[in-house]
Amino acid sequence: MASRVVKGGFALTQYLNASKQPEPLFGDIQKHVLEKAMGPSGRAQDVLHPSEMVKPDWCHRAAFHRLRLGAEHPDRQKPNFTRENVFAEGHRTHDKWQQWLVEMNRLAGDWHCLNCDETFWWDERPEQCHACAANRRCLEYAEVPLNAHPLRIGGKADGYAPRENALIEIKTLGLGSLRFERPEFLARYEVETEEFGKLPDLTRLWRDFRRPLSSAVRQTQLYMYLAKHFEDLEVDRCIFFYDFKNTQETKSFTVAYSESFSEPLIEAAEIITDCVLADVAPLCNVNGRVGCASCLEFK
Ligand SMILES: [Zn+2]
Ligand SMILES: [Zn+2]
Repeated sequence: MASRVVKGGFALTQYLNASKQPEPLFGDIQKHVLEKAMGPSGRAQDVLHPSEMVKPDWCHRAAFHRLRLGAEHPDRQKPNFTRENVFAEGHRTHDKWQQWLVEMNRLAGDWHCLNCDETFWWDERPEQCHACAANRRCLEYAEVPLNAHPLRIGGKADGYAPRENALIEIKTLGLGSLRFERPEFLARYEVETEEFGKLPDLTRLWRDFRRPLSSAVRQTQLYMYLAKHFEDLEVDRCIFFYDFKNTQETKSFTVAYSESFSEPLIEAAEIITDCVLADVAPLCNVNGRVGCASCLEFK
């Protein structure tokens, strides 16, 4: 960093005061990002999301109400700049890995044409748009839709590698994402330091990181089920690529498909969609007649 020489006296006082002022442009960026986060999410509200379904406290009654009302998930009502920054960084990491796989012709999925707005499936990088023949530079990779329409489940995997019979999931691991997603995992690596109190030992955390986070594994099992049974894709495993934000080191893991894992979730989705058709709310599966925090919101 360039050192800056500041003379004493009035100039120094002014300089110190100026550096104490919050930068207005920085504030404007934060406002812009939070406003964007408050706006329409682009995430369909009238479907069951695999990321919700695999949570241990997924409430069927709350899911029923959300489907009926198309209500936003409560998480989205309190945006936070750091979290939005974590999300944005995650998207950039996705783009990077997907781009490498596209260049290698190893990625299948939906392709979106920026010229005519059509989306079509192709098993490798298309030469041109199949609808309007626009140059391949107009095409962006639009990932792998995983929909079970009769069960109103809607999701998207990060990629599909046809030669490997594998779905692809791309993850970032960093202090920010762990704080939001797995605080208990991070806590295991906290060490007491004399000078700064508790600090995470990130070197050890990364060294010990030998399998994807369990929430990610559960989600990807459901993705594989949807891919096989509803999207007609040959899938027998999921390949994870992890980017460690602190050092840019990477790891990859494979998770084999297990049919039985998702069966109870699929049965639950059947019950919920039947209840929507009959317009009768199912009981709360988390806390019985009393109800849980999620479904009580809809009282
Ligand atoms: Zn086109
Ligand atoms: Zn409930």
